[in-house]
Amino acid sequence: MDKKRCTAIVLAAGNGSRMKSGVAKQYMLLRGRPLIWYALHAVEESSVIDDCILVTGAEDISYVKEEIVAKYGFSKVTAVVAGGKERYDSVYNGLAAVAGDSRQGDESSCAPDRDGYIFIQDGARPFLTEKILKRCFEAVEKDHACVAGMPVKDTIKIVDESGFARQTPDRNFMWQVQTPQVFDAVLILSAYEKLMQEKEKLLREGISITDDAMVVETFTECKVRLVEGDYRNIKVTTPEDMAVAEAFLDCGTL
Ligand code: C5P
Repeated sequence: MDKKRCTAIVLAAGNGSRMKSGVAKQYMLLRGRPLIWYALHAVEESSVIDDCILVTGAEDISYVKEEIVAKYGFSKVTAVVAGGKERYDSVYNGLAAVAGDSRQGDESSCAPDRDGYIFIQDGARPFLTEKILKRCFEAVEKDHACVAGMPVKDTIKIVDESGFARQTPDRNFMWQVQTPQVFDAVLILSAYEKLMQEKEKLLREGISITDDAMVVETFTECKVRLVEGDYRNIKVTTPEDMAVAEAFLDCGTL
């Protein structure tokens, strides 16, 4: 049987305000290369991923096309599209580009008419590896929906509004979730269509959608499998994460 097509959606449309730097964090240099280079490089070199949609700020599209995609020769990037206000808006725009591509340019919605798998990846995670991509590919083939993550090392507390501990969930069942988050194309496209229909209601109820698995958990019957990621597969969010990322790079290959 032929391998199904695997499309990566790499997200780089966040404003990175927690980085407190003048430059958007996805373009900050990490050991001489823009932060976004690392995830795109892993995608480019991967035997799993066939093509890639890069989601960036509307005002950054031409810069990214010239200074990242063309400059570094990322040949799997087939489109650079504008993101939205929230991460899920950016994912939706990426999915619309995937659906539009399969429906020859009609990007009016993410109609679920595409076979294959979608790998959603935070551009701010520089330590995506081929091993993680392969583990996710095997899991999505079997279970249709999976996310990379790792068991938590610390005890986690659920707190009340005043900051007092309310509950201590059993640590044996707690994972910290990373990306990639990987789904059957049909499943994730239809889950995001439903999210967009229900978005205003969720916002009114104060429910925030923080990852793609949550969209699938909320709007479909499909169960999401947790797959071993890597403790080094960090998201670079604050200045101290940059120092950690530099230390990982200095330690050599992952
Ligand atoms: O904001 P957060 O750290 O959760 O962002 C995770 C990833 O999602 C980052 O790579 C960021 O650039 C991306 N993002 C996006 N569009 C947004 C918010 C975040 O593409 N509106």
